[in-house]
Amino acid sequence: DVSAPLPRTTRVITVSNQKGGVGKTTTAVNVAAAMAKLGARVLVIDLDPQGNASTALGVQHHADVPSVYDVLIDDFPLTEVIQKSPEFDTLFCAPSTIHLAGAEIELVSQVAREHRLRTAVEDLQRSVDQPYHYIFIDCPPSLGLLTINAFVAASEVMIPIQCEYYALEGLSQLLGSIELIQKHLNPTLSLQTILLTMFDGRTNLANQVADDVRSHFTDKVLQAVIPRAVRISEAPSFGQTVISYDPSSLGAISYLEAANEMARRYGDKLTTSPQN
Ligand code: ADP
Ligand code: MG
Repeated sequence: DVSAPLPRTTRVITVSNQKGGVGKTTTAVNVAAAMAKLGARVLVIDLDPQGNASTALGVQHHADVPSVYDVLIDDFPLTEVIQKSPEFDTLFCAPSTIHLAGAEIELVSQVAREHRLRTAVEDLQRSVDQPYHYIFIDCPPSLGLLTINAFVAASEVMIPIQCEYYALEGLSQLLGSIELIQKHLNPTLSLQTILLTMFDGRTNLANQVADDVRSHFTDKVLQAVIPRAVRISEAPSFGQTVISYDPSSLGAISYLEAANEMARRYGDKLTTSPQN
């Protein structure tokens, strides 16, 4: 089914987990590309100085390119840094450059340092004729000011969880940070989505971790699970997401399922109390 409903207002989703290598970037770019393929207008904001999301989306992000750094530190409007991905006409990226590595420190002395991305996103929404349906923010692996900017700018948090032994370790720290943000900086932020990634169904451990996550987070966890798949990890080296690199692969199909589910379940989740 390729006709997922489009949200009436922009859903700003931050993909966060303070652990590195759990599939944040892979999830952000592939769910974003899947949403674009399903007909949505989508922006990915690359908030990680490593710029992996910019690479995977095939946009320029060498040091001279206007980037999210200029938005956060020099008040550039997002419209001046956004590039179209070569993959889909409705997929866009605000790239990160190496300069963003310094932003974590430079932000400390800025006015409204936690709100800079939020203000930029609000200005963007006011200035574009065609609103984005989804804005995904790819976070660095830390709970510093860049990630806090993402939490303040977003309406939803999406957490990718890698199905391995240490998966749940550190998660309470992340949940604690989200609670602090809700209390002090962004009361409407909500954890909406957990996605199990790099799943290898042949191992008992992966199944056990998946069961643990589902029993703990119940309806937040998508039914779709992303398998560990070579095609997914190959795609970025071609400047592509797996959605266009190999559309019929299991990895692409799984990310399309995850996107479809996120599009469909959203309305329910905002209006009903959690099941169980
Ligand atoms: P993070 O952004 O959390 O640091 P990444 O998305 O960069 O994590 O993923 C870490 C590594 O794992 C990358 O090399 C990526 O290509 C690989 N990877 C991510 N998801 C999968 C998957 N489902 N199957 C195989 N490799 C994956
Ligand atoms: Mg990353």
